Amino acid sequence: MIIIPIWLADSLEEEKVGAKESFCPVCDRPVIFSVMRLRRKRMLFSVINLSTKDVGTFLVCPSCGGTYPLP
Ligand SMILES: [Zn+2]
Repeated sequence: MIIIPIWLADSLEEEKVGAKESFCPVCDRPVIFSVMRLRRKRMLFSVINLSTKDVGTFLVCPSCGGTYPLP
């Protein structure tokens, strides 16, 4: 078990980095996906940023809201 002190908090941050046209299997048609980058920030007292780590980049369908890994 890992105990995280309350003055240390991880938060996830999403940032739109672009757009990409691809086929959405849920909508069953090609859509313009939003390319989102997810980052994990470790904050001290919610003010001081200790580290920022890229978690990954994924696509978000604006029509159905589905998320897919970047091919
Ligand atoms: Zn979709």
